[in-house]
Amino acid sequence: MDWYNETAKRCHNKPDDWQWYSLSAHNVPDGFIKVMGSVPIGVYSRGPNKGRPKWARSSEADTVWMKQSDIDETKLIYSESTGKCAECQSTGQVVSRFSAQDDTQYRICKACDGTGMFKRSDSDSSVQPDLHKQICSDRIQSVKTGEAIQLQLFSEV
Ligand SMILES: [Zn+2]
Repeated sequence: MDWYNETAKRCHNKPDDWQWYSLSAHNVPDGFIKVMGSVPIGVYSRGPNKGRPKWARSSEADTVWMKQSDIDETKLIYSESTGKCAECQSTGQVVSRFSAQDDTQYRICKACDGTGMFKRSDSDSSVQPDLHKQICSDRIQSVKTGEAIQLQLFSEV
């Protein structure tokens, strides 16, 4: 589950196989994240990038704008509907130090105390009453239905 991809689908109507390849929070309007991506044109079948998505020329990319609050809401919707912790995606642990040499270190997920289950925090419950109003203001209509958004969000699971 990639939250940038999920948020692009949720807020910007991107297709299920859309993926980001560039994120930027510099030189952009305050509070926004610039997310560039597209539907990959294929997958590398050999070489050092084997298995990775292949992109078309960047001129054909989509740029979408999202705020951290949009991403947080994507996580909250996931947690509300699955009962799983979004931070660790129910594994109970998160990466504490990433290493490309396979000695990546993990620590217990603080959001769920390592249980992997969604635990409502105080800040979540204060956000909750407005959840279906605040999400992605440009797509309020689809959000209002609640069920439709979950179908869209989890259609690939
Ligand atoms: Zn967790």
